[in-house]
Amino acid sequence: MEAGDNPAQAELEDIDTINLMTVHASKGLEYPVVFMVNLVADRFPTRNKRDVIDVPVELIKETLPSGDEHIQEERRLFYVGMTRAQKYLYLTLAKNYGGKREKVPSGFLGETGLKMEYVGKVTDEKSGGQDTLFGITSPFRDPKAINIEHLVPQTMSYTQIDTYNACPLKYKYSYILRIPTLPNYALSFGTTMHETLKEFHTKRMFGKEVSLEDLYEIYERKWIPLGYDDEKHRTERFESGKRVLEEYFNKHAAGKDNIEALEKSFNLRVGGTNFFGRIDRIDNLESGGVEIIDYKTGTAKSQKDVDRDAQVTIYAMAAKEALGLKPDLLTLYFLESGERVSTTRTPDDLVKQKEKIVETVENIKKGEFEANPTIQCGWCDYKDICPFAYKG
Ligand code: SF4
Repeated sequence: MEAGDNPAQAELEDIDTINLMTVHASKGLEYPVVFMVNLVADRFPTRNKRDVIDVPVELIKETLPSGDEHIQEERRLFYVGMTRAQKYLYLTLAKNYGGKREKVPSGFLGETGLKMEYVGKVTDEKSGGQDTLFGITSPFRDPKAINIEHLVPQTMSYTQIDTYNACPLKYKYSYILRIPTLPNYALSFGTTMHETLKEFHTKRMFGKEVSLEDLYEIYERKWIPLGYDDEKHRTERFESGKRVLEEYFNKHAAGKDNIEALEKSFNLRVGGTNFFGRIDRIDNLESGGVEIIDYKTGTAKSQKDVDRDAQVTIYAMAAKEALGLKPDLLTLYFLESGERVSTTRTPDDLVKQKEKIVETVENIKKGEFEANPTIQCGWCDYKDICPFAYKG
């Protein structure tokens, strides 16, 4: 990075992020470790860029310092950079920046009175020294040395638990560091379908007739066009969504809905942690109990997978303990294939699921964010920035 570049900086402090910034941008800030780089002549201090138009001295109101103002200003900046360090300060330069001639160290380095050490090649001894700063034995890398308590979300959700269990590092990127991700078409499509069906059934609950054309109109209004590869991909998915809705309409429009609630929110206390979620649909059953229905887009799961699905267990727990219902049937409705896969849960299943949630939350609070690279990294939003991403 050259002087003047000023990339967006992570706003998070007290966690193991690296902030890249100019000396100007660092004013007023302090960090445990500071690296000042490019400390060679013509880079720090930079060459004096003279004003395009010389301002007549008579027009300048303040008293100008005597001597070379540019060098004095650069020296002040150098001092600002050095004094940002709380614990370690590294002043670094290279002999070769790609030009023909070897670079000369910045004159400011000499002024510090520090002895320069040439690190031509990282020897074993040197790498051991580096290791104590950022290597695996570094205190700066010890998750427990970093207080993340205040960064852990106060409310947990199934998605958070699922993300952590798939890859703790992915959880950290998403929920602790909150690194934004690009729009994802699968999420856009799923949200569109959920919102469309919610409005379709809400209208019917209020006694309104909803035709297939009305359903298409809702779909077009709810359509989220983000995250698709290109226009062709977007159009294909849009058309496939219409086909899914047509099939859904043909199956359900003639019958009578027996809906107790749509998009029902719940709050649960699980081992001292607040747990939040939303159930897509709750239907009344003749047994006096209810059927919990979760709409899914994407590939259908097998009966075996649904029988041990954690989300289904959490919904059963929520229906019983937070909503006071009797969840006799738990169904994942795979919209694209039209399959409904139903299951049940015993009280013992709920107890075991709670224990798993408590254990996961404890690990999150302890700051345990080991990477779990698998073939799933190919679909991870952070694969381009993750040093552990599975490459096959
Ligand atoms: S790329 Fe893989 S290892 Fe890295 S955060 Fe994502 S899932 Fe985890």
